[in-house]
Amino acid sequence: MLINGKELLEVAQKHHFAVPAFNAGSGQLFNAALESCEKLNAPLMMAIHPDELAFLTDSFIGQVKAAANKTTIPVCIHLDHGASFEQVMKAIRLGFTSVMIDASHLPFEENIEITQKVVEAAHAAGVAVEAELGTIGDTGNTVEGGVSEVVYTDPETAKEFVERTGVDSLAIAIGTAHGIYPKNVDPKLRLDILEETAKRVDIPLVLHGGSSNPDQELVRSVEMGICKINISSDIKIVFANKLREILNSGNNEIREPNVLFPPCMEETKKVAEQKIKLFKAENTVPFYQSEAAIKGVLV
Ligand SMILES: [Zn+2]
Repeated sequence: MLINGKELLEVAQKHHFAVPAFNAGSGQLFNAALESCEKLNAPLMMAIHPDELAFLTDSFIGQVKAAANKTTIPVCIHLDHGASFEQVMKAIRLGFTSVMIDASHLPFEENIEITQKVVEAAHAAGVAVEAELGTIGDTGNTVEGGVSEVVYTDPETAKEFVERTGVDSLAIAIGTAHGIYPKNVDPKLRLDILEETAKRVDIPLVLHGGSSNPDQELVRSVEMGICKINISSDIKIVFANKLREILNSGNNEIREPNVLFPPCMEETKKVAEQKIKLFKAENTVPFYQSEAAIKGVLV
C-alpha cells in the first residue's frame, strides 16, 4: 500500500524502530529493496534523489506507484534531498508521498523560509515534508553530496526550526556522512546531540549517511529515537562489486540483463535485510495494519 511519509514515520516513532530508506538508483535496486522488505515484513521508504530521478525518468514513478499499490507492506515514495521549491513541486505532481527540502547549507533564516513555503504547499497536497538542520558530511563520490566538515545540529535551534516550519520529520547532523568512510576515518556519532534533540523535539528524527557506520552505533541511535535511516552506498557497492566480478569472469557471452543483474540484486538484498533487522523494522507491518484499523482505514 502506498502511504504518506508522516504516517510511515509516526508508527516507527511509536514502536521504536527505524524505517529503512533505500535509494532506488535503478529499477533493479528498487525491486531488490522492495523484495527484502516484503520478505521481512517491513515498511519501505523508497528514496529517490533528483539526480536518480533524472536518470530513471519520470515514468519510473509510475512503476513504483503500481508496485506500492500492489504490495501489502507500506511503501512511501520519498524525494531525497530536494534542492528547490520547483523540484519539490515536480515530485508532488509525479506522486511522491514524502518530500525532503534540503536547504541546510543556507543561513538559518533562509532555511526556515524555504522550508515553510514547501510545508505549506506539500501539506495542502497531503504530502509529508522532511527538512535538514546542520549538515551531513560527504566522503566523496555519491549522488547525495554533502560537505567535507560536518556542522552538528544544535538541539535548541532544532526545536525553534521545527516549531516555526511545521515539518513532519527532521534530518539531524550527528556526525554521519554520505558515502563510505575512508579507511583512516573512524566515524563516531554524537549520540549526545541526538539525545538532547529528542528531548526537545516531538516529530520523528531521521538519519542520513547511514552506510558504513558501526552497527552498534546505528542500533543505539534507533533506541534513542531515530525513526528512519537512509542507506544508499551500502546497497550499491555490493551490487557494483558483483557486477564487476561477473564482467571480469572471462565469460564474454554474458550479456542479457536477466542473467547479469539477478546475482547483483541478491547481494543488495543481503545487505538490505541485514539493515532492516538492525533497524528493528522486521515484522513491523502489523503495527501499520492495527493503526489503519484504529483510524478506520481499510488495508
Ligand atoms: Zn542524505
